[in-house]
Amino acid sequence: MKKDDDTRFDGAAPVAVLTTQPLDRLLDYRAPEGGCAVGDFVEVPLGPRRVTGVVWGAAQGGWDESRLRAVGRVLDVPPMRAPMRAFLTRAADYTLTPLSAMLRLATRAPGLGDAPGMRKVYAMGAGQPDRMTDARARVLAVLRDHGGLAFTLQDLARMAGTGTGVIKGLVAQGAVEERESPRDTPYPRLDPALPGRALSDDQAEAAAALRASVRGRVYATTLLRGVTGSGKTEVYLEAVAECLAQGRQALVLLPEIALTAGFIDRVEARFGARPAEWHSGVTATERRRCWRMVAEGGAQLVVGARSALFLPFADPGLIVVDEEHDTSYKQEDGVLYSARDMAVLRASFEDAQVVLASATPSLETWANAQAGKYASLILPARYGTAVLPRMRAIDMRAEDVPPGRWISPSLQSAIAARLDAGEQSLLYLNRRGYAPVTLCRACGQQIGCSQCDARMVEHRFRGQLVCHQCGDTRPVPHACPSCTVEGKLAAIGPGVERMAEEAAALFPDARIEVLSSDLHMTAGDLKARIESIAAGAADIVVGTQLVAKGHNFPLLTLVGVIDADLGLQGSDLRAAERTFQLMRQVAGRAGRADRAGEAMLQTFQPEHHVIRAILSGDEDGFWRAEAAERRAAGMPPYGRMAGIVLSGTDLQAAFDTGTRLARADDPLRRIGAQVWGPAPAPIARIRGRHRVRLLVKADRSAPLQPALAEWLAQVRPKGDLRISVDIDPQSF
Ligand code: ADP
Ligand code: ZN
Repeated sequence: MKKDDDTRFDGAAPVAVLTTQPLDRLLDYRAPEGGCAVGDFVEVPLGPRRVTGVVWGAAQGGWDESRLRAVGRVLDVPPMRAPMRAFLTRAADYTLTPLSAMLRLATRAPGLGDAPGMRKVYAMGAGQPDRMTDARARVLAVLRDHGGLAFTLQDLARMAGTGTGVIKGLVAQGAVEERESPRDTPYPRLDPALPGRALSDDQAEAAAALRASVRGRVYATTLLRGVTGSGKTEVYLEAVAECLAQGRQALVLLPEIALTAGFIDRVEARFGARPAEWHSGVTATERRRCWRMVAEGGAQLVVGARSALFLPFADPGLIVVDEEHDTSYKQEDGVLYSARDMAVLRASFEDAQVVLASATPSLETWANAQAGKYASLILPARYGTAVLPRMRAIDMRAEDVPPGRWISPSLQSAIAARLDAGEQSLLYLNRRGYAPVTLCRACGQQIGCSQCDARMVEHRFRGQLVCHQCGDTRPVPHACPSCTVEGKLAAIGPGVERMAEEAAALFPDARIEVLSSDLHMTAGDLKARIESIAAGAADIVVGTQLVAKGHNFPLLTLVGVIDADLGLQGSDLRAAERTFQLMRQVAGRAGRADRAGEAMLQTFQPEHHVIRAILSGDEDGFWRAEAAERRAAGMPPYGRMAGIVLSGTDLQAAFDTGTRLARADDPLRRIGAQVWGPAPAPIARIRGRHRVRLLVKADRSAPLQPALAEWLAQVRPKGDLRISVDIDPQSF
């Protein structure tokens, strides 16, 4: 492990503090008794409060230290290493985010500064409670569901949805056991020397190249490309093995929590133990342990969501971003960052490797590989005998589909053939719920969310209308909320629930399963569902985007895309890229084992160039055409963009501020950048806040961030108006 500069010093200490207030500056404090070192986590006074901070550098001389407030204490936390501080500083500059907000991402560990030693944990006891209440039953159910696991009082109370008093009561009766537990034990050791599977020649070649770069200990990024099922995971696990053998730590990012359970089983099979996990489904206790063990070297491998990038690795040697094209890697709330880009940035400060794995890389990554900035490894075939599915379009203009129905006769007979053969079919539609629109046939009004510029979507299985923007729900009404006429509300358009209903009407004897993110409460439930489907427990699976991501269904031989045109509508310039990726991913679900698969795309525009590219499978041809279009328009990755969203409850104020900014564009013009807007943002209102957007476009080489900072500093948002900057926005 690299040694940091840990020279202790007295005098003034510039500290980066963790506040919810955006704070860009370092604050100066007097070093505590006995001095402190750069990187130390400290507790400092801020106004009437005490907050956590990190000593960011040693102060220059010439300070009147008697006027500074003193650092309260140095926390018992491994200091933040220099490469991590450099990474956070650069990430803050790049995303135009205050350092305080970046620091918050890097310290999301409950009880960070608590003293180490023992603490109390709670587990199932031997006794019985004198009487059972709902709250007590919930506490016992949580403990029973988690086997022998013990929880802190707060975690257990939160999970059971009770107060801590209920748990204390159960302890008094012996039904719950309270015991002392050492804090934060290291994770079981993974053994990189265990033999992996025998690799195919292509896999072996790619694995050898990755192993060599990991051994080289110089930053590099590699695009690992190969169709779904070509064995990319198997290959990058070899890179993980090499990294662990070098005594360094590895991080694997997955786009979806639902994928982690399966992946962790695979890690256990390969390395003999389970890795650390980091995502929103992990308890606070476990997150705390993970954070500390990552910092102390007691965790060799972390499997996680995008925020795992901000963990305090002691010596990271490898970051894998699986399904790197996935849009969920873009954080769209709070600090707006792309985990893929941040992985590259972080690795560059750590002499670490990045592996970007995908069957259908993002255009950005494809272009970087073409330009030689990233190395490229390609797995040409599927592992074993599995072949890619045949793809064909169903021209919906020539099909006789009754109104209110979406499965064409051609698709219907293909499904029937699979049912006869005892094989599975997947119907893919990227729309949750029963129907996207609920319309009143009396007054013509659609039911919308009262807080957002969005329609309420009927979820019939749950009997609710749901806003997919803010999550607001209400019961499905009988009467129209606008005109109060009863019995005239009609579902318009298809969602997955409605497709399941149609499939059931066409095939009454088939076993039909719906896979949609809103229907599965926990990652565990979803994993169980997926496993039972993979084992053959369903004949027809109806699914949303959820099914496009890396699950294995060996019996599946037909994929029917209900509406291949869905993603091609609208003005999003990335629409073509997204549709291409998604359709290829979904089609890749078919024929994974030894059975040939077939993918059918229902479309009203079979001659559209994106549909044609999907069918022909000429990926490089598609990327080249797409790249040429973006280059001509000066769009990313050939030009740079930033989206500025002004949001607030006062629409006029947001527009006025936007107009003032648009007029005061000197700092932008000096770097040759243009500004468009203000205009209503793609979603013009969310949770009662209006959203107005400006778009800035610049050349690739232009120093965009400093110019944006200077430009935005000219206005001071008033009232509840907020300005957020999105560098490299997903849609523009
Ligand atoms: P990808 O990540 O490209 O989708 P995976 O690594 O998941 O591909 O491999 C697809 C399937 O093939 C998995 O079920 C995996 O276990 C199997 N597989 C891949 N490589 C091998 C190998 N060398 N030996 C045995 N099975 C393999
Ligand atoms: Zn809403």
